[in-house]
Amino acid sequence: MSNLSKSRILTGDTPTGRLHLGHYVGSIENRLAMQQTHDCFFIIANTHALTTRAHEPAAVREDVVQITMDYLAAGIDPAKSTIFVQSEVPAIAELTWFFAMLLGFGRLMRNPTVKDEIVVKNLGDNYSFGFLMYPVGQVADILAFRAAYVPVGEDQVPHIEMTRELARRFNVSYCGVDPQAGDEEHARKGVFPVPEAKVGRISRLIGTDGKNKMSKSLGNHILLSDDAKTVQKKCNKIYTGRQSPTDPGTVEGNPIFEYFDAFATDKAEVAGLKERYREGKVGDGDCKKRLAEVLNAMLEPMRQRRAAFEAHPEKVLEVLRDGTARANVAAEETLYLAKQAMKFDFFPRELKLR
Ligand code: ATP
Ligand code: MG
Repeated sequence: MSNLSKSRILTGDTPTGRLHLGHYVGSIENRLAMQQTHDCFFIIANTHALTTRAHEPAAVREDVVQITMDYLAAGIDPAKSTIFVQSEVPAIAELTWFFAMLLGFGRLMRNPTVKDEIVVKNLGDNYSFGFLMYPVGQVADILAFRAAYVPVGEDQVPHIEMTRELARRFNVSYCGVDPQAGDEEHARKGVFPVPEAKVGRISRLIGTDGKNKMSKSLGNHILLSDDAKTVQKKCNKIYTGRQSPTDPGTVEGNPIFEYFDAFATDKAEVAGLKERYREGKVGDGDCKKRLAEVLNAMLEPMRQRRAAFEAHPEKVLEVLRDGTARANVAAEETLYLAKQAMKFDFFPRELKLR
């Protein structure tokens, strides 16, 4: 099947650090499966990283490269999928402006992910005006590619809901689509199809703190690129709340067992461990040691693929350059269609990367 006849997906990551196990089960696995059957666009959202890292330009740039290496190490194939840098696709920024005009401020502030992030990331009332723009920017990221599906973790579902609303609002406002129309009519008559979230096998992997979702910014993660020793150390630090190894342990909501469930291939072994843990017959230390072995077995092939790219950083930049050029072709086409619908199509343009 050629890419033209495949339906599109768009998803991506913010360069606020490297990718972790939560990304893997929340989104990367779906991407690996879908790159065989869909036209895939993976965005490295460096503009969004400025919401919390506006004063760390060198670190943001470095993480763009590191996340690209994480993708390649995880098995994303640049011959099948388009990996690109958000800041070099100007159509996205232009669409952000248009969508911001269609969104009520009150509606934005009711978005539960925005509210949560303000609390969890300790932003208080010091967040920038740009922080509030990032969900609108994310709407533009998705709609710029007229994506049908968006593989994401659970925390992103409110953003996809907002994307669906704005796609409909644009189509109704500028393309004559009936306000009561179903998704199929929007796809046929509107500029923007109404995209669907595709939540991963595990919608919200807990962090090693046993409290928050595993997150790049909270330091409660195990990275896909951590070496075997670091994985063991991080496993040792997992918080379970258990006082003594002979106390009856709780399995539900315990990061050790969430990770076993997510990554162990021997389900019978995990069932046995859970039973003994509940009965106080196995300590946290033994479970953590075994968990590190399980995780390291899964991560080892990724580490090897990563090492090959670390030796050739120029290849990573080539992947990004080619991907960004392809992304611009798709996004410029969408922007032109949107401008046509809005009667802003004064002077068609061509955009080329040098
Ligand atoms: P940050 O702390 O900077 O917000 P993050 O770890 O939340 O970083 P994002 O770049 O915001 O990562 O998210 C990228 C994708 O990974 C999104 O689709 C998000 O839903 C998914 N994701 C992130 N963390 C988890 C998790 N713990 N479990 C499942 N999916 C996750
Ligand atoms: Mg996040």
